Amino acid sequence: MDTAGARMAIGSRAETSLGGRRRPVCPAPKSDVVSAEMRRMPRHSSGPEMRLRRALHASGMRFTVKRANLPGTPDIVFSRARLAVFVDGCFWHACPVHGVLPKNNREWWAQKLATNVERDRRKDAALAALGWLPVHLWEHEPVEEMVTRVEGLWRSRTGREIRTGAARA
Ligand SMILES: [Zn+2]
Repeated sequence: MDTAGARMAIGSRAETSLGGRRRPVCPAPKSDVVSAEMRRMPRHSSGPEMRLRRALHASGMRFTVKRANLPGTPDIVFSRARLAVFVDGCFWHACPVHGVLPKNNREWWAQKLATNVERDRRKDAALAALGWLPVHLWEHEPVEEMVTRVEGLWRSRTGREIRTGAARA
């Protein structure tokens, strides 16, 4: 199951458990952090990702989003540069700064998050094998720094300069 699938499964478990009939496939979240993450997780893009998209667009970058035909369904894709950008959530991707292990069901969560990290690595390897450069940004990074990094990579991968509206995906 891919990350999106796992997240959706968690979401639907929360829904089905409301009826109290189905056995949960994962422990109920006890911490506020986890509950907040689960509410936020559905299919749509996160706040940090949306901010990055707006900032990239404002700086003249053009891209596509959620390319499902690439390993890992990258959040932001620059086709010419073959850059596959992921804005990783600190919780789900075990950020070294903010990654926390919920107090309840610690072992289950440790295993789950370790699996996520491992899956990220496998998808990065698959992208690289196709000639793409996977770029992982943490959701906690300042958006200006994200933009600077993406622009630098785009330039070095294409040998082009970015002009407003000219850096076509
Ligand atoms: Zn973080």
